[in-house]
Amino acid sequence: MEKKNIDWGNIGFGYIQTDKRYVSFFKDGAWDEGVLTEDANVVLNECAGVLQYAQTIFEGLKAYTTEDGHIVAFRPDLNAERMESSAKRLEMPVFPKERFVDAVTKVVEANAAYVPPYGSGATLYIRPYMFGFNPVIGVKPADVYQFRILCTPVGPYFKGGVKPLTIRVSDFDRAAPHGTGNIKAGLNYAMSLHAIVTAHAEGYDENMYLDPGTRTKVEETGGANFLFVTRDGRVVTPRSDSILPSITRRSLVHVAKEYLGLEVEEREVFLEEVKDFAECGLCGTAAVISPVGKIVDHGKEICLPSGMTQMGPVTKKLYDTLTGIQMGRIEAPEGWIHVIQ
Ligand SMILES: *Cc1c(COP(=O)(O)O)cnc(C)c1O
Repeated sequence: MEKKNIDWGNIGFGYIQTDKRYVSFFKDGAWDEGVLTEDANVVLNECAGVLQYAQTIFEGLKAYTTEDGHIVAFRPDLNAERMESSAKRLEMPVFPKERFVDAVTKVVEANAAYVPPYGSGATLYIRPYMFGFNPVIGVKPADVYQFRILCTPVGPYFKGGVKPLTIRVSDFDRAAPHGTGNIKAGLNYAMSLHAIVTAHAEGYDENMYLDPGTRTKVEETGGANFLFVTRDGRVVTPRSDSILPSITRRSLVHVAKEYLGLEVEEREVFLEEVKDFAECGLCGTAAVISPVGKIVDHGKEICLPSGMTQMGPVTKKLYDTLTGIQMGRIEAPEGWIHVIQ
């Protein structure tokens, strides 16, 4: 199959329209069989549930080419499970796990020409999403839903080398106690936009959100979980009901324990103890781990000993091992790599 003529190393993280996307309708209490379509537009009634009351959830994962030339996706079954819990929380129908994985497979196969070659650093970003489709004016769940999957090629995250991030402690909260912080819903992102736009305007890359109840504990950023390393080499990651359970973070915890023999603590992490850590990183599908060099808490700077020019040594080992597993250079745990082609 001929690849598209794309400068893989130089595309950013933006939307590039591909040939096919998957669409399935939920109507009269059941999902239809779903189709691949070339039509990239969604035509909605003006009163659609998603437009009025933000009834929408999404997922994000990647497909890429491994060292031996296969096209694979990383743990899509976990995205299906997470989307199930998001759907239940927003009173939406569940798109069955087997069908989710099958639809991801079909979309990637149909757009194989857009899957970047091995070694380019680029990947095919896959975006499953679901939204309330029919008109809703009284506040209630929609009855008709659309589940769709689009994909778009994205460039290497660390183009031009690793640059540790500078982040600030935010005055805004991203999630309420017992709210929707633990599901992947558009509404969590809508309300984070003001915080990220002002952070960027002030020269910060990201916001560190604290626990909304006491504002003393570290939660996560707008789209990535935290992972810290202590000075004696233990991995520490915050535990909280209002954190989105990152698949990358859960995979890194497994890698830390089972591949690198590191001790891992999943527990409450107080802002007060962050100054004692040796390394800090943000985990998510986009970057796997993005190192943090500096955290600014209302003018008080916490400079991580790993510095502003490179990943800390433990972060680097975690990054190299997980990306090695993803790219087929290191043997993966059973079930982690879903071979598409
Ligand atoms: C998607 C997301 C993450 C990262 O999850 P991955 O499954 O690792 O991509 C972390 N935090 C938030 C708020 C997210 O929406």
